[in-house]
Amino acid sequence: MVWDLSPLVKNTDPSAVKSDLKSMVAEAEEFRDRYRGKVTLLDAKGLLQFLEERDANWLRCEGQIKYCFLLYSADSTKEVAKGLLEAVRYAQMRRNQALAFIDIELAKLLESKPSLIRDPILSEYKHLLEKLARKAPHMLSEAEEQLVITKDKNGVNAWQLLQSDWLSTRTFDIEIEGETKTLPYGEIIGLYESPNRDLRKQANQTVYENLGKDEIVWASAIRAVCDDHTQMCKLRKYPTAMTQSLIDNDVDLQTVSSLMKTIEKNVGLYQRYLKLKAKLMGMDKLANYDVVAPLPQAPDTKYHWKESRKEATDSYYEFDQELGRWVSEMFEKRRIDGKVRKGKESGAWCASWLAGKSAYILQSFNERLGDVYTLVHELGHAVHAYLGSRNQKPSNFDLGMCIAETGSVFGELLLTDRLLKKATTKEEKQAILAHVLDDFGMSAFQVSARVFFEQSLYDAISQGEFLDGETVADLWVSARNKVYGNSVDWLDVMKWEWTMKPHYYLANFRFYNYPYVYAQLFVFALYRLYKEHGNTFIPKLKGILAAGSSKAPYDIAAELGFDITQEAFWQKGMDQAKEFIDMLEKIA
Ligand SMILES: [Zn+2]
Repeated sequence: MVWDLSPLVKNTDPSAVKSDLKSMVAEAEEFRDRYRGKVTLLDAKGLLQFLEERDANWLRCEGQIKYCFLLYSADSTKEVAKGLLEAVRYAQMRRNQALAFIDIELAKLLESKPSLIRDPILSEYKHLLEKLARKAPHMLSEAEEQLVITKDKNGVNAWQLLQSDWLSTRTFDIEIEGETKTLPYGEIIGLYESPNRDLRKQANQTVYENLGKDEIVWASAIRAVCDDHTQMCKLRKYPTAMTQSLIDNDVDLQTVSSLMKTIEKNVGLYQRYLKLKAKLMGMDKLANYDVVAPLPQAPDTKYHWKESRKEATDSYYEFDQELGRWVSEMFEKRRIDGKVRKGKESGAWCASWLAGKSAYILQSFNERLGDVYTLVHELGHAVHAYLGSRNQKPSNFDLGMCIAETGSVFGELLLTDRLLKKATTKEEKQAILAHVLDDFGMSAFQVSARVFFEQSLYDAISQGEFLDGETVADLWVSARNKVYGNSVDWLDVMKWEWTMKPHYYLANFRFYNYPYVYAQLFVFALYRLYKEHGNTFIPKLKGILAAGSSKAPYDIAAELGFDITQEAFWQKGMDQAKEFIDMLEKIA
């Protein structure tokens, strides 16, 4: 359960790693000295060499960078890890500074010679160049970009810092078993999924009541962040508040509109699930603090590491031998850190290691059903990296948010299939289906409420409305009600729910929500197609994963015969969710 990071570096001795980091910076500076100011003069052959060199350069330094970050994430209390983290952050900053000229000069080159994009010599990099060309008209001059970075540091970025500092330093009082406890934010939110209903209610009540007390701060922050974005859109000539996000995520407006219309048409399906869940929990109606709560009758099964490893590997083996072998290799070569320890980063993720054609997974494995799902999810990311690194150059494996979750969510559905077949009791099956549907509901529907909310913020601003706390809260409540209807009873204080989402305060990162909806429905639709077409679908899924970012999501889907600009495609994903709900209804 403990990973082996040594293959990432030539020598794990900290001074050797530090000296590798120094060479990495020197190599980037040498590259800069050779090319800076000359990129705009390159012909197709020269550009190919430039891009290939840049990719090769990344493969040479990837291991040492990841080694330092991964070492620290597994145990931040170790002095060696702290020292190497400091060293890698400094080295990366120097490297980024040295290479900052690349995008700006490439954009200029493509503006003056757009025919390069279609040059057969550059065919492997075609989509990379297309993406750059789409960004080019919105870039400012190098001096202006530097100025934006400088003023953002203490300008719009500071709101984000304030929001996260506020949350992480606040404490909340809550009564647990007759005793008043004072908990930090990170701990109290753990109670949202407690089996004890009263605790869930209290935790929600106390957190949002306190957040609401500072509505003035949150409304100021939201206003400033939104207004900054509106102003920057004007400067960068983006026609709408969403355009930048569409370009970053490599999708078009029609696709996102069809996706969101499908959500609106299917809110009744989600509400049907919520009513069914209420019935399973022995209630007339769910309160907001019951929506993701565990079913009271769910069996308290412990999943040990060994059997979880078998469930995970077999889930992938049953789908495809090659995928199964890679998943198995992740365990054999100790690429997974599942051990729970102090000083370990919370959450779970998978870091691809392209040079090693593999990946590393970090997770704190607590032997619950949810942990097995997380393990299989992260292994799906790993499989994506195995396929991508074997088929693509690093710059063609820079996954956008819409595509990045394809392997991982698909893997979860494979596990669901397997667990449902193995389950012997009604309660076990209910727990598995509720787990899948709770996740689906959050990623597809709850997140959609946030998409509607964010859009309404910009609409209000463009109509000259002043956004005070109550106005923003009204916008949130109407976006939320659009999704939930009257299927859930909300505590009054939940109108302040928008105050704690860090993403609303992130500078230059607007409209980050719809990619989650996209990813969820996309994979559910793919899974539906797998169920309909059987084994002939397997190479298609592998093709999607192997494509990395070398093609636009639209083209990847089109090659498989689907049109993601149409609602009919997205409805397939809903049909899969409906099937799970039907299954659960039958055994309720
Ligand atoms: Zn993921």
